[in-house]
Amino acid sequence: MFQTAFTVAPGRLVAATGPDDVRAAVRHAAAHGLAVTVTNTGHGLAGPVDGGVLLDTSALDEVVVDPRARTARIGGGARWGQVVAAAAPHGLAPLNGSSPGVGVVGYLLGGGLGILGRTYGWAADHVRSLDLVTPDGESRHLAPGDELFGAVLGGGAAHRFGVVTAVTVDLVPVARLYGGSIAFDGAEAAPAEVLRGYLRWARALPATVTSSLAALVYPDLPALPPHLRGRYVLSVRVACTGYSGSTAEGERLVAPLRALGPVMSDSLREMPYTESPTIHADPETPHAYWGDGILLDALDEEALAEVLRLTGPAAGRMAVVQLNHLGGALADAPAAPNSVPYREAAWLVRALYPLGEDGPGPVRELHARVERALAPRTLGRAVNFVFGDGERREGLYDAETAKRLAAVESELDPANLSG
Ligand SMILES: Cc1cc2nc3c(=O)[nH]c(=O)nc-3n(C[C@H](O)[C@H](O)[C@H](O)COP(=O)(O)OP(=O)(O)OC[C@H]3O[C@@H](n4cnc5c(N)ncnc54)[C@H](O)[C@@H]3O)c2cc1C
Repeated sequence: MFQTAFTVAPGRLVAATGPDDVRAAVRHAAAHGLAVTVTNTGHGLAGPVDGGVLLDTSALDEVVVDPRARTARIGGGARWGQVVAAAAPHGLAPLNGSSPGVGVVGYLLGGGLGILGRTYGWAADHVRSLDLVTPDGESRHLAPGDELFGAVLGGGAAHRFGVVTAVTVDLVPVARLYGGSIAFDGAEAAPAEVLRGYLRWARALPATVTSSLAALVYPDLPALPPHLRGRYVLSVRVACTGYSGSTAEGERLVAPLRALGPVMSDSLREMPYTESPTIHADPETPHAYWGDGILLDALDEEALAEVLRLTGPAAGRMAVVQLNHLGGALADAPAAPNSVPYREAAWLVRALYPLGEDGPGPVRELHARVERALAPRTLGRAVNFVFGDGERREGLYDAETAKRLAAVESELDPANLSG
């Protein structure tokens, strides 16, 4: 499990090797009144597992690319890195997120905010079909327009509709991009000035550029490179597809960022899509963490500067804050209805706190102050970025979507499925 905050002690562990195993496990659990927890990578483990059946889908990891149809059929346990690798020889790319280690299905259940999000929209909007084993142990092939298809995509991270054994998604014709990360030392450059400069730059961008700003104090650990140990670092991460392939064009795009302050590191470059995981360089080592995502209708620069102040060196503990620029195709309505809410959101503030021996109490208190600072512009919370707290459901959906999801869930009666 990537998330190590919880004890995992199931009564039974089923490592599924195909849809038959999934059906058998779900039926067995239903017949014996046992809870089923589905897991793939454990990035999104929502709480402890105590008894019941733990259904591990990670062996269902087949990826088959159809280059003519520009689709990939993906097993319910595959990770995005596998799909990127399988699509790349055809000059195609999936709508993956920042980390190649994240599971395809878990990500899609929560909508899927990709590194090319502003260009292509939510990954859930580009699903062609889903194979789902419902809580009664039956397999259903779902297509756009089906009520359950629309409930699972975007709604499946907070509701239990069944186990996805395979999914078919669109691929996009992206072989190369211009992007990377540029970092500033928070002790040398004024954090609020980097923030303002980034916002000024990002607000003028076309939808072919997706970007975010991250701020964190690195722990003073010997395992880290000396230039990062104990430093407060702000970095802007960029992925741009809409350029002709000339490096000069990319350089012109990011020139205002390079002028924001003394640069600590700069990996902005033209690259093959297969190198895109280097843009965010997400952690690969399992650890304990608590996190939340706050969707904003518009940005209040002062409020965000306050969030940086609260979570920077003054916090006295490590907090990773990311500000994702939304809009562009993320605001478009999907071709077939699904359950990704708050499409009008212009920005997303993600806060992630590694947990120490003092548990989640102190980070909840710190995060409550972050929430208060952002409250006047908050639309709701982003389900894919809620970590280590499966109980917190408020604000994940607008009232209409929440009602529809609850109705579909109660129709399926998934008393035996938990997350
Ligand atoms: C380092 C990191 C980077 C991330 N980057 C992004 C990003 O860029 N964009 C984004 O949108 N999200 C991102 N996320 C969030 C991520 O998409 C969610 O945490 C997602 O739930 C992880 O899915 P998983 O399969 O890897 O994890 P798991 O913990 O294995 O699964 C997560 C949830 O999905 C359910 N699930 C998994 N597989 C199935 C299945 N086959 N059928 C039914 N239910 C299933 C599980 O029961 C669980 O509730 C990131 C998370 C991390 C830790």
